[in-house]
Amino acid sequence: MSRSAHPAGPRHADVLTEGHYSAPAADLNVLDEKVWSRTVTRDADGALTVGGIGVARLAEEFGTPAYFLDESDFRARCRAWSEAFGPDADVFYAGKAFLSRAVVRWLQEEGLHLDVCSGGELTTALDAGMPAERIAFHGNNKTVAEIERAVEAGVGRIVLDSFQEIVRVAHIARSHGVRQRVQIRVTVGVEAHTHEFIATAHEDQKFGIALADGQAAEAVRRALGLDSLELIGIHSHIGSQIFDMAGFEVSARRVVQLLAEVRDEHGVELPEIDLGGGLGIAYTSDDDPREPQEIAKALSDIVTRECESAGLRTPRISVEPGRAIVGPTAFTLYEVGTIKPLEGLRTYVSVDGGMSDNIRTALYDAEYSVALVSRTSDAEPMLVRVVGKHCESGDIVVKDAFLPADLAPGDLIAVPATGAYCRSMASNYNHALRPPVVAVRDGEARVIVRRETEEDLLRLDVG
Ligand SMILES: *Cc1c(COP(=O)(O)O)cnc(C)c1O
Repeated sequence: MSRSAHPAGPRHADVLTEGHYSAPAADLNVLDEKVWSRTVTRDADGALTVGGIGVARLAEEFGTPAYFLDESDFRARCRAWSEAFGPDADVFYAGKAFLSRAVVRWLQEEGLHLDVCSGGELTTALDAGMPAERIAFHGNNKTVAEIERAVEAGVGRIVLDSFQEIVRVAHIARSHGVRQRVQIRVTVGVEAHTHEFIATAHEDQKFGIALADGQAAEAVRRALGLDSLELIGIHSHIGSQIFDMAGFEVSARRVVQLLAEVRDEHGVELPEIDLGGGLGIAYTSDDDPREPQEIAKALSDIVTRECESAGLRTPRISVEPGRAIVGPTAFTLYEVGTIKPLEGLRTYVSVDGGMSDNIRTALYDAEYSVALVSRTSDAEPMLVRVVGKHCESGDIVVKDAFLPADLAPGDLIAVPATGAYCRSMASNYNHALRPPVVAVRDGEARVIVRRETEEDLLRLDVG
């Protein structure tokens, strides 16, 4: 995600010396296929279409802001991941990226497994008919009630995240008369090259049990000593929006090392390792994500090699992509409301949503791109900041981008790659009504999560 300063015409020369963005694309009308979902294109009139439907019709039928999810792209990405990893591995979609009953059905049809990390996600998964044995339950502080529900439902694995939880899950499993399959989440000491808040495997954070100083080995010792737990493997998730495979390699190596220690100490070869999710996607044209094929090969090569040298049978591998599956498949459509040129700085473009439908920019300085999608334009590029309608100056959707200088109120603009962690992190700040998610496929559009209404807001407010 390198950023460099480029001159873009005298009007912006002063701010461009600060250099936080790339030069405008040579032609702002071209939709870079790296950041847009697969069926997105422009029609003969220059308007964006997805799944064969134009944005004008989508905006009219479903309103703005709204998320439009390219269903065939979602399914294609599921298949790409499961084909890349093959029959000796399992792909768990990380539900927290975006989960709905329709998504659960697509996952089932495409043969994927599912990660959940709360009772709400578990309910959605079970309600849509995901077989419990294909569900993994995560979280650093699962409540007793949540663990009970997961055990009763018969989830395929619970990923243990602390010493207290080992005992808690064992106790609940025993009282239900079941032997619960579990993994232990370890922190391998890798600092993923990503924003500090979303790097999770270095030691100074809340997730997992450290490999360092023998904590993880002690957790294995305790889990193996409890009859109501069946320890099936070790789990490591090193962060998010990662492009560099080096972190995964170190992680895999350290997890295999622990498997070897467990074999030496207990005479047990744990049959599975889970290397988590975190694979990066293209939010802007500067991002170069890896293909699932390449990721699968890198991970299985390293695990096979390390296991051979440790004299271990190669364990079954699982991975947990969330963002890499759903992220690129959706865009958010907004209508431009006001436009404020700030001389010598930039132009503020206000849209009808904001931090309530995309908190990622405010939360961790995420980068996005944006395009005028209701028409094309030959006007010169104008440096913009796309902001929302909320009462916060940090209510920024796209920090630095270029849009055509003839942009006008009423134009539709779209922010691509908003499939992951946008609707799932959406809020009601300022009593905003959370936007719908509309699945588009082969000329048909259908709401899979409806827009909130003022009635919904009032229903929760019981006076
Ligand atoms: C968040 C999370 C994932 C998914 O991360 P992505 O960056 O969306 O791929 C996978 N596994 C665990 C344990 C997670 O917490």
